[in-house]
Amino acid sequence: MGADTGQLGFDLGVDVRPLPRVTPARLASWESCPRRFRMAYIDRPAPARGGAWAHHTLGAVVHLALRALFDLPARARTPEAAEALLDRNWSAEGYRDSAQSARYRTAARGWLAAYTADHELHDPTAAPAGVERWVSETVGAGERRLVAEGRVDRIDTRGADAVVVDYKTGRHVPTDDDARDSRALALYAAATGAALHRPCRRVELHHVPTGHVAVWEHDDASMRAHLDAAHGLATAAADAGDALAAGGDPEALFPPRTSPACATCDVRRHCPEGRAAAPSPQPWAYLRDLPGAEGAA
Ligand code: SF4
Repeated sequence: MGADTGQLGFDLGVDVRPLPRVTPARLASWESCPRRFRMAYIDRPAPARGGAWAHHTLGAVVHLALRALFDLPARARTPEAAEALLDRNWSAEGYRDSAQSARYRTAARGWLAAYTADHELHDPTAAPAGVERWVSETVGAGERRLVAEGRVDRIDTRGADAVVVDYKTGRHVPTDDDARDSRALALYAAATGAALHRPCRRVELHHVPTGHVAVWEHDDASMRAHLDAAHGLATAAADAGDALAAGGDPEALFPPRTSPACATCDVRRHCPEGRAAAPSPQPWAYLRDLPGAEGAA
């Protein structure tokens, strides 16, 4: 049996390999830094992670509130309900102090109230087809088939089609190019279409702080390109995992790949190259600035 890279090897006397099983997070981890991937998904016991980041906490809270909101009947999805759900799920982990946490809590309440009131961003009369729905489906064609899985923030139905909606809360306001280039969204769309037996080609990034929506409609070619790339990455990761299980050198098979992302890597304490490549910021350094305030500074 190979290492836990998402593939299992079976001794059947022939070289039979199950389809790669991928989540967008695993693929992104492998693609960005093989060492990080090994520490996160292969090494056991898993290395201790770093502490909480305020921008991650904020994103998680907004996702929790929106999940709870869209679990309500449509008529109960009011701005006041959204604010209450934000309060109920609030966490101050990673913030500098209670005053900074309170500022962002107030801001996030406003984001959610505005999002809920804007019926361009969701259908006030209909239940979504899925809210944080787990999908796991075989997608792709021929030898490049794979099992794509993950949790989709929201699945809307528009006419006969399903639409993948992904929430964003960060500093960067996503563009249509971001939606087009997102392998995660393409994998979710492919798996969602297969799970619901509906066409699913439209993917949307909803930036909750601004209400901006970035959109892409995949065609056969763009979807195939994403799935083929995912298959290639998953196969390479599985090959490295199998070589490691056979006694290979972990440093050679899973080299560090330094980048600005080393600053927030959750295993940087175990990685001298990453610590040298990027300074360690304060846990609240990546919060988006708030109007009229110094924000994360
Ligand atoms: S700190 Fe950088 S190089 Fe080290 S594991 Fe993390 S992402 Fe990779």
